[in-house]
Amino acid sequence: MRDEVEKSLLSSDEISRRTIEMASEITRDYRGRDLVTIGVLKGAFVFLADLVRHIELPLEIDFVAVSSYGKDTVSSGVVRIIKDIDLDVAGKHILLVEDIVDTGLTLKYLIGVLRERGPASVEVCALLNKPETRKVEIDVKYKGFDLPPLFVVGYGLDCAERFRHLPYVGVLKEFEGSNETR
Ligand code: 5GP
Repeated sequence: MRDEVEKSLLSSDEISRRTIEMASEITRDYRGRDLVTIGVLKGAFVFLADLVRHIELPLEIDFVAVSSYGKDTVSSGVVRIIKDIDLDVAGKHILLVEDIVDTGLTLKYLIGVLRERGPASVEVCALLNKPETRKVEIDVKYKGFDLPPLFVVGYGLDCAERFRHLPYVGVLKEFEGSNETR
């Protein structure tokens, strides 16, 4: 299976070092605040698990799952929530934790939905960011790495539900040299 992946665009050590840096920024910024981290399933489950273990503050953890939009809904940015959060976030500081920001449509939608629930703030923490494929402006306050417009897998990210468990981020061989992001 690993033969299908061009290994290690980002090694597990690089990811770990950057995650620790991001967690210390978050620790510094959210001291004394009610912090709720919300992971966007499924892709963010690995990053969120590693990130929160380095945040040295009391915090709550929840998850949201969204269906990816089909081709016809991309431009409208309509994303369906298929698993909502369980926690009451009113008055709390939400940190949305994403694996990767591509067009930005998923996060734009989620930020809008969560803002309606009366949180004190909503910010975004994403391990990976593909600025060249962005369609809507998103302020990613905590950003791990900028990537070119490649389709990447591993560290939570899948291709047809495979490769999520790889400890590094890699590019599928069939996508090497391609600009396809989906
Ligand atoms: P956006 O709404 O920003 O276009 O897309 C965000 C979601 O698209 C991510 O949470 C992820 O599920 C998926 N995605 C975007 N780029 C990639 C990629 O390079 N690899 C994988 N596996 N998923 C991606």
